[in-house]
This record gives sequence, C-alpha cells and structure tokens, in this order.
Amino acid sequence: MHGEELEWMSDAFHKNWMSTVGENINEVERLVAQKIGCKYAVALATGTASLHLAVKLAGIKPGNEVFCSDMTFSATVNPVVYEGGIPIFVDTERDTWNMDPVALEKAFELFPEVKHIVIANLYGTPGKMEEIRKIAKKHGATIVEDAAESFGATFRGKQTGTFGDIGIISFNGNKIVTGSAGGMLLTDSLEQANKARKWSTQSRENAPWYQHEELGYNYRMSNVVAGVIRGQLPHLEEHIAQKKEIYFRYKEGFKGLPISMNPYDEKNSEPNFWLSCVLIDENAMCKQVRGERETLYLPEHGKSCPTEILETLASFNAEGRPIWKPMHMQPIFRMNPFVTTDGSGRGKTNAYIAGEGTDVGMDIFHRGLCLPSDNKMTPEEQDRIIEIVRACFD
Ligand SMILES: *Cc1c(COP(=O)(O)O)cnc(C)c1O
Repeated sequence: MHGEELEWMSDAFHKNWMSTVGENINEVERLVAQKIGCKYAVALATGTASLHLAVKLAGIKPGNEVFCSDMTFSATVNPVVYEGGIPIFVDTERDTWNMDPVALEKAFELFPEVKHIVIANLYGTPGKMEEIRKIAKKHGATIVEDAAESFGATFRGKQTGTFGDIGIISFNGNKIVTGSAGGMLLTDSLEQANKARKWSTQSRENAPWYQHEELGYNYRMSNVVAGVIRGQLPHLEEHIAQKKEIYFRYKEGFKGLPISMNPYDEKNSEPNFWLSCVLIDENAMCKQVRGERETLYLPEHGKSCPTEILETLASFNAEGRPIWKPMHMQPIFRMNPFVTTDGSGRGKTNAYIAGEGTDVGMDIFHRGLCLPSDNKMTPEEQDRIIEIVRACFD
C-alpha cells in the first residue's frame, strides 16, 4: 500500500458512494482499458467472476468441451465447469510454462469438435500467444485469456489480456496490483462489454420496475474496492520493476547451483515477474514422493528437492510454495481428458492413450517451486533465502 489507496477509499466514503456505482469504478475502468490497450474494461467483483462472464460471452454451453491450460490455478478452469463445460487439459511447454501449441494442435486432432480455448499466462509470463492464436483461428475456436497473474506483462509490446477474444485480470490480494479483491473483463466489443455490465448487475432490463429477461449475477465491483485499485494503479510499473529486480537477484544468487529460474521468451516478451520460481535439474533431485496430501523425501549430499527447500524455508519462517499442481493431477478433474505433445495422455473415457510424450506439467510440479517474491522483501531478506536454498544443495 502506498497511501493513495486510502485517499480514494475515503473519497468514496465521504461522497457516500459506498456502492457498486461511483467515480472510482469509472476511473479504474478507464485507466485499465488505457493501460491494456483494449476498448472496454468492465470492473467486476473478482477475477473468477470475470472469467465466468468471459466464458459465457465466449458461448461455452453445457456439454461443450473446452481446451484449458493445465498448469494453472483452478480459478482458470472452474468457470468452464460452472457453465457445464468439460475441460480438456492441454500439456505445458518448457519455454514459458504455459499451454503448449504443439499439444494444442494434437488436441484438435483428437477432439476436432472443440470450439473453445481457455488459456492462462502463468506467474506473470506471457505464453506463446501468437502460435496459439494461429491454431485457434485455423480451427475456428474462441480464446478466453486469463491474465489474472500477468497484468502489465507484454508479448511483442502487446499487453497480455488482449490476445484472446475476451481477457480478464485480477486484483486479488496476492496480485501485482490489488484492490483486496476485484477483477476486470477486457474486450474490444461494445456488445460484450454491455452484456457483462448487465449480467453483473442482476440483468435488469430498462423498465420502471425490476424486469428480467435473462439470468443475472451480483458480480459488479464495489466503489470502495475500486478506490484501492485507483490508488495502486499508478504504481504498477514500480511493482513490476521491484519484482524484476527480485527475479534477477535470485538468478544471480543461484549461479553455480543445479537449478534454473522460471523461463520466458527473452527476445519477444517482458513478463511482470509476479512470482520467482526455480526448477531443479533432474540429476540434482534427491528422492521425493508426493501423495494426495503428504510428501516425503530422502536427504542426499549435493542434491535437494522442492519439499526439502520448502520445509527448510518454513523453518526460517519464510514462505515458499510448490508449483501450482497441474489440473489433470487434481482429484476433481481425474476423469477429464489430458493431451501431451505426442497425443498421449487420457482420452474421453479416461482411457490411457499410450505414446512417447512426457507429462511436462507433472515434471515441473515435481522439480519446481515458487520462492518468496513479495516486493516488500529487502535485499538482506532475499540474501537469507538464497543462502538457505544454497545450503540445501550442500
Ligand atoms: C488469482 C487468479 C485467478 C482468480 O482471480 P480472483 O480475483 O482471485 O478470483 C484466476 N486465474 C489465475 C491464474 C489466478 O492466479
């Protein structure tokens, strides 16, 4: 927090616009549309609510199969299920840890009837959006782009959230710019923006009384929350610069260790560096097994694993996290199809489809972890983290 957040919240309070209407909402919609470079930004209660309306606008209907990012937070996928859609998970590539265009092409071979894609930009790193768009176009599929974690990140100078037919960002408490909660739907279509506004305020028709012709939601952003966002928005670039410094400080600090940072397309993209993660080299992994709730590892000289590093960090009161566990590994989605680069994975009847392809998402989950990445972290604190991680490989 910087101070301006409280001023705009107080402004809402003093003007008595303690509601889902007010100047803060109008202003953050204007500022975000301008920053992102889209025509319309619709302020909503959460990123998840934004995804829900985006999925509806994309035309996802009960029974529709939808190609979804696999290594992402469950909020990317849940709205598909709210609408009765069936997620088909597409494996992850190693260059940016996002949906693999090769696996997506395979998925269209296996499931040619699919007409929708929901894709996330993980940890603030833009995915291979141009290739994904080409494939989507070829197959006449719509794209919903989840830029919840990647606000401010660009691919070839274009902001994430603008690569799909509809995009969303989130202002959840953990995101790069926060309102404590909040989200936005991004679109170039006035019709879509109007629909989202109407649906988010209980679908009231223009009549003297409460008149309803379609299903409505209470999804509009609060003017108080918009005040926090209004105070944060001028600091987006500063937050990105801090996150970037943290990423490169880790990268430098880990020189010589058998680990690498979460990768990005250095030539074409500029992430917002929301989370700094590492991947441990295969031959530097000690034995680690994970059940559904618990994990065990065998310490080994010169080697380590995410569990050892996370437990060691926790013993110093520092919080790291495992990589977001891929959706195809989640019990709730165990019956959903999953496609890897060579077309192997799980089919419609949940039958295993054999092939050479490795499960990239499972591998990154096994060997990767998220490091403390808060922009308030001091260089001294970060040096401690680096020291602790180094010691795990002793
Ligand atoms: C945070 C997040 C969301 C959901 O945003 P909320 O505002 O928390 O509802 C969606 N997708 C991803 C990838 C996220 O990280």
